[in-house]
Amino acid sequence: MKSVTILIPCYNEEKSLPFLHDALQKLMEENSHYQWQILFVDDGSKDKTLEVQKELAAGDSRYAYVSLSRNFGKENAMLAGFDFAQGDCVIILDADMQDPPELIPEMLKWWEEGYDDVYAKRQTRGSESFIRRWLSLSYYNILQRFSRFDILKNVGDFRLLDRKCIEALKEIRENQRYTKGMFSWIGFNKKEVVFSRGDRVAGKSAWDIRKLFNLGIEGITSFTTAPLRISTIIGVVVSIVSFFLMFIYLFKAIFFGDPVQGFPTLITVILFLGGIQLLSLGIIGEYLSRIFIETKHRPVYIVKETNLENKE
Ligand code: UDP
Ligand code: MG
Repeated sequence: MKSVTILIPCYNEEKSLPFLHDALQKLMEENSHYQWQILFVDDGSKDKTLEVQKELAAGDSRYAYVSLSRNFGKENAMLAGFDFAQGDCVIILDADMQDPPELIPEMLKWWEEGYDDVYAKRQTRGSESFIRRWLSLSYYNILQRFSRFDILKNVGDFRLLDRKCIEALKEIRENQRYTKGMFSWIGFNKKEVVFSRGDRVAGKSAWDIRKLFNLGIEGITSFTTAPLRISTIIGVVVSIVSFFLMFIYLFKAIFFGDPVQGFPTLITVILFLGGIQLLSLGIIGEYLSRIFIETKHRPVYIVKETNLENKE
């Protein structure tokens, strides 16, 4: 019998878990030819999430929990899940029911046909604001242009991964994680299934603009060095232009004299160049700070407690 792990990162999801539990019970009943493991990763929740998870685990041996010592973020929580998952395949699911569990049988069907990474593509995004949708689409377009890997639009973390993919992902132990990029980076046979994304059943999204912005920067800096290249190119262009300007001004000064004038031009050029220099330094700094953090080789997450014996 093949075993399937459903990996559910949870941060303050006490209100969503009962709904999720009902849906999972139904799913497992209807697909009893698999051996199921429901693996909750409690990402340092501040509410009763862990208690609810423990209760579920006490009543049913298929449920397991891993609780992290603080909030490490969904990306890190997912790696903890990969480490502890025991199934022949792992399905990553959000706790808030925005990823419909009804899609799982279809994913399993494609897995049985030999696909290693069955990802769910959203056809609709629930009631998100127009601005957020637009920002997210333009972001993916930009990222796609600059990086060598296909980072897919409208595809979240809801996907089925074969054991092969999980083993590959476990090798990637960088601290600043952009898992969406890693899924493409590892390769393997991919298959798309489509679904429409609803709204959360309870609680509220933990992603505010600041977190999304940080994840956005993470995506760019961990998968492409294009910004460094761009600042080099701007530097070269500005240098060439100023070289020619130098000749023009020398020529003017020699043949037409040099009355002190042109303060506006001067100040504009100085401010413009100052701006570009600061921007380039900032870009270098972004990469440098990432090197700094990665060289410390800190663990990606710390486990507080779990009902599982060992990491598989
Ligand atoms: N999540 C997590 N750690 C965090 C933030 C979120 O484990 O720091 C979990 C959360 O409990 C949910 C999933 O990641 O199961 C997706 O989070 P959310 O619904 O807030 O994101 P959205 O659906 O808005 O992208
Ligand atoms: Mg959600």
